[in-house]
Amino acid sequence: MTQPVFRFAPSPNGHLHLGHALSALFNFDMARKTGGRFLLRIEDIDAARCRPEFEAAIYEDLAWLGIEWEQPVWRQSGHFGEYRAALEKLEAMRLTFPSFESRAEIARMVGDRDVRERWPRDPDGVPVYPGAARQMTEADRHVRMAAGLPYAIRLDVEKAMEWAGPLRWRETGAGPSGQRGEIAADPAAWGDVIVGRRETPTSYHLSVVIDDALQGVTHVVRGQDLFWSTSVHRLLQVLIDLPAPAYHHHRLILDADGRKLSKSTQATGLRKLRAQGMTPADVRRLVNAAV
Ligand code: GLU
Repeated sequence: MTQPVFRFAPSPNGHLHLGHALSALFNFDMARKTGGRFLLRIEDIDAARCRPEFEAAIYEDLAWLGIEWEQPVWRQSGHFGEYRAALEKLEAMRLTFPSFESRAEIARMVGDRDVRERWPRDPDGVPVYPGAARQMTEADRHVRMAAGLPYAIRLDVEKAMEWAGPLRWRETGAGPSGQRGEIAADPAAWGDVIVGRRETPTSYHLSVVIDDALQGVTHVVRGQDLFWSTSVHRLLQVLIDLPAPAYHHHRLILDADGRKLSKSTQATGLRKLRAQGMTPADVRRLVNAAV
């Protein structure tokens, strides 16, 4: 049997909170119990939001919790070459298209139609891309590119699904509505997702699947907020020809109002709790009570 490989993959765009502690401890404990490996990955493709002091704080907070990880740490900013190669592969398969609209333009396009028909939302509640650039002629694309207009690269989800056929994944945790077992992936719910952002030749979805494959991750254990992202991840894995890890989505820790914790909610930040005198054992108890 292959040795299990787990990972915890935070973005250094804020301080870790109790929800991160749950994910990190869950992965770390699973690795220990199964004789597996535990890897830490820093998801820092977003140069505008990620900061070195947050990365340093991640190391400090995890060490305080008693978590140990392998060196060197995988930092996404060191792997743009691999992401670019995957993007080129998708482009060569003719499954992508450049999309020149800004977020504001997309919001305007959707806004007009939203009044008449309620425009579909993706699983995160964001209106799906209206698909204007997909219909653009090659000639029009070339004119815009030659003019140096910025663009994102989107996956033509319909074409991609035709290529890949029906997809499933095995869920050993649970989805937000208690889904478990064999889950039918539904990438179309996300519309034509961005695989290459305007300012960087990758996206969250693309980097995650490439990294999980390159790092040999066998078990993806993460919060339920990412449950439906797995649909896109399975699609990309099949298109790029990457192995599929096992998936386990765990419950989220909610705040007093029943909302998902965010990095801006100071109250549950690990540094704050530590400053208030909480011990790593107390954090473990809180986390265990939540799952
Ligand atoms: N970087 C993502 C986050 O902080 C996690 C990615 C993943 O676990 O797939 O939410």
